[in-house]
Amino acid sequence: MIAFGPVPSRRLGRSLGVNNIPPKACTYSCVYCQLGRTLHMHVDRQPFYTLQQVLHDVQKQVEEARAAGERIDFLTFVPDGEPTLDANLGQEMALLRPLGIPIAVITNGSLLWRKDVQADLRQADWVSLKVDAVQEQTWRRINRPNASLRLEAFLEGMLSFAAEYAGQLATETMLVAGVNDDEANLSQVAEFLARLRPHAAYISIPIRPPAERWVRPPAEQAITRAYAAFEEVVGRVELLTGYEGDAFAFTGNAQADLLSITAVHPMRERAVTAFLARAGADWSVIQRLIAQGQLVETEYGGSKFYARRL
Ligand code: SF4
Repeated sequence: MIAFGPVPSRRLGRSLGVNNIPPKACTYSCVYCQLGRTLHMHVDRQPFYTLQQVLHDVQKQVEEARAAGERIDFLTFVPDGEPTLDANLGQEMALLRPLGIPIAVITNGSLLWRKDVQADLRQADWVSLKVDAVQEQTWRRINRPNASLRLEAFLEGMLSFAAEYAGQLATETMLVAGVNDDEANLSQVAEFLARLRPHAAYISIPIRPPAERWVRPPAEQAITRAYAAFEEVVGRVELLTGYEGDAFAFTGNAQADLLSITAVHPMRERAVTAFLARAGADWSVIQRLIAQGQLVETEYGGSKFYARRL
């Protein structure tokens, strides 16, 4: 279950996911997290899988995807938690290089004050950093970081990484109504982005079931305000408010594919229907997984979603 997809990604095209963290270890417990509340919150790096396990699983998934005629644009570290908690991250990227596919890492950036984390991330072709808030109270309210993390170190770490990184740097700001969508927060984040100088700044809103039921997307006005504030300081700003599509790859085993994708990426009913049609399977697969307690059905924003039970 370390490799999954390729899945459609709004930023990376067809992305084959690398899930290098067991559920759900993170330095944050974001209120909007689509994986639910953090089960194992910590800040210490450690190996979770052997290098051989990661290499073997990713290689196998790439071979199966290619055999099924699936295009792969990126190998993306986008796990069940924070990818930089994995002490083997740098070595894993070095081992995956010969596959000849660009490597991306989606991180919350909270450990970038560590030089070893910076060195690991410098190996990636594309890195996305989470910047939801740069003010103490709002940061603690939306991201709920581990108590040992310090805002100052977090911001300095991102700036020093950005200054030396030669790949493509992106940022992602998730807007939650009543938490970080006010004018003051947006202009503070924009000021920070001006110093970070990312290649692109992405704005997203909760579109999948969040960890906390009260989380709501902001009003359109706030999204427009964020767009305008960020555009003044970053050349390219994009809204990730749309649906990424239904093109989840079938690589030979419908049940295994569904479980590995939904572990990190809850799927809409429509996407599951399209996937089952591609796999030549029917809804009995889903019913069986729900009955076995491996999959859960939830509702958010008027749509049904299917997520792996962690
Ligand atoms: S959204 Fe990302 S950073 Fe936040 S708790 Fe979930 S996995 Fe961790």
